[in-house]
Amino acid sequence: SASTNPIRTYIRAADAVIREHAEEVAALDQAIGDGDHVANLQRGLAALESLAEQLERMDWSAAFQKIGMSLMSSVGGASGSLYGTFFLAMSKAMKDKAMNLPNLAEAFGQGVEAMKQRGKADLGEKTMLDVLIPVANALQQAARESSGVPQAVETINRLAAEGCESTRNMIATKGRASFLGDRARGHIDAGARTSQLMIGAIAAVHV
Ligand code: ADP
Ligand code: MG
Ligand code: MG
Repeated sequence: SASTNPIRTYIRAADAVIREHAEEVAALDQAIGDGDHVANLQRGLAALESLAEQLERMDWSAAFQKIGMSLMSSVGGASGSLYGTFFLAMSKAMKDKAMNLPNLAEAFGQGVEAMKQRGKADLGEKTMLDVLIPVANALQQAARESSGVPQAVETINRLAAEGCESTRNMIATKGRASFLGDRARGHIDAGARTSQLMIGAIAAVHV
């Protein structure tokens, strides 16, 4: 059949919001990392854009697998293998499943679990997990309470913003910023900011 999923729209939304905030994100990774985070992500998003025509014809499990493998090989950096791991776990969880809020919540939770294990990190270590863990919890709560999509999106956006902001005064215990000790305080984590931006942009497709 000619049926397609909205993955191309998601890739374009993520790419647009990262482009809009490119200077801000570059400055964040320059302050407490090596400055390449925005370029790493943009390379990954360009790789996905070139696969979009194939991706939008796949089922969700196959598409997430292809996305994960593509990000692992194109992004480089810590964020590439971590996002790659996230999408491969999402793929496994979505095998033979329909896309709906309960299944997405379950798969997103599995993705976050896999990322936690891959990077040996958890909440409060000044990484993108400070955004992704609260978002996973919000998705699971929305699925349990059968919240409407607009309400779920509002909660997700609020928790993602709070999670991102919470990294500002943390010290980092994982990733490059961990070499800085106390000097990492006062700066938002670049990966937390880009996770928040991309989640917001993708969620906005649905409201
Ligand atoms: P690199 O640090 O190799 O240059 P990037 O700049 O692309 O890679 O990504 C850095 C981001 O990756 C950090 O801002 C942080 O959010 C995230 N990160 C680093 N280490 C971990 C980890 N162990 N678990 C989760 N996220 C991490
Ligand atoms: Mg970097
Ligand atoms: Mg790097």
